[in-house]
Amino acid sequence: MTAQLIDGKAIAQKVRDEAAAEVASRTAAGKPQPTLATVLVGDRTDSAAYVSSKGKACLELGMGSISEHLPADATQEQVDALVKKLNADPKVSGILVQLPMPAHIDEERVLSLISIEKDVDGFSPINIGRLAQKGRKPLFVPCTPYGCIYLLEQAGVKIEGANAVVLGRSNIVGMPAALLLIGKNATVTVCHSRTRDLPAVVRQADILIAAIGKMEMVRGDWIKPGAAVIDVGINEKPDATKKKGYRLVGDVNFEEAVQVAGYITPVPGGVGPMTIAMLMRNTLRAAQIQNP
Ligand code: NDP
Repeated sequence: MTAQLIDGKAIAQKVRDEAAAEVASRTAAGKPQPTLATVLVGDRTDSAAYVSSKGKACLELGMGSISEHLPADATQEQVDALVKKLNADPKVSGILVQLPMPAHIDEERVLSLISIEKDVDGFSPINIGRLAQKGRKPLFVPCTPYGCIYLLEQAGVKIEGANAVVLGRSNIVGMPAALLLIGKNATVTVCHSRTRDLPAVVRQADILIAAIGKMEMVRGDWIKPGAAVIDVGINEKPDATKKKGYRLVGDVNFEEAVQVAGYITPVPGGVGPMTIAMLMRNTLRAAQIQNP
């Protein structure tokens, strides 16, 4: 069998179009423009590129964008003060602190300072704590795992009662993805670097979310026939035919898995575009919470 491709690019575009329409109707009604403030500390080129693409997405959707940049030697006090200033600024709907920050900055402290109503990345301890508790709802769900679940739902994959395996337990992808799946009544197994016999565990999965950052590690014969495979991994595979000298591949060996799975996300064009789309959705939601 050949798996059905889950087109993240098209689904992300739909999310963005819906958000843009809602932004237009809010601003036409005289409500403040939803605005995302990004905080970049230091000069990592990858972080600068991520922040810039988030700002660009805001403008495309008719949202406001404020980008704050502190030098790599900024002190903890300066970063803390900037977050507090953005918390207090009524023009700012959502705050995104780009990670990782330089090693001397206490990231956990900075994230915990973001006001819960502006925590559009969903990483504050309160939002994550609520995600982990039965009967409580976070104001915002972390964007990448939110995108993974949205893709499954849009593809019509039944989550309730399914055996789901999440590869990876990071704070930004694996763990919140597992919590979301539990919240949707899947039976969830979380795997990590000490998991024994990974292929045998993965073979039980009706739904597989792979977020380990290991190029094409998941092989076709690990996949249960008909399973839904969401590949979060972004890895650079050397490829002399490409201008950059590499192409992007996931944590799953796509060519093998596509022969066995029922549904699969490509890399690129799967989870990647969803992350920014969900950030836009969260920023709009923040504006709706602050100015109903
Ligand atoms: P982290 O490095 O923070 O976490 C990796 C996780 O994978 C850890 O839990 C680690 O286990 C586990 N792991 C590592 N090696 C193995 C192994 N051999 N077997 C089993 N488990 C293993 O990564 P992230 O969660 O930040 O990112 C994961 C991938 O997703 C990366 O490729 C990243 O680029 C991509 N990504 C893509 C995004 C998108 O928008 N598409 C957004 C964010 C990330 P342990 O905890 O034991 O160390």
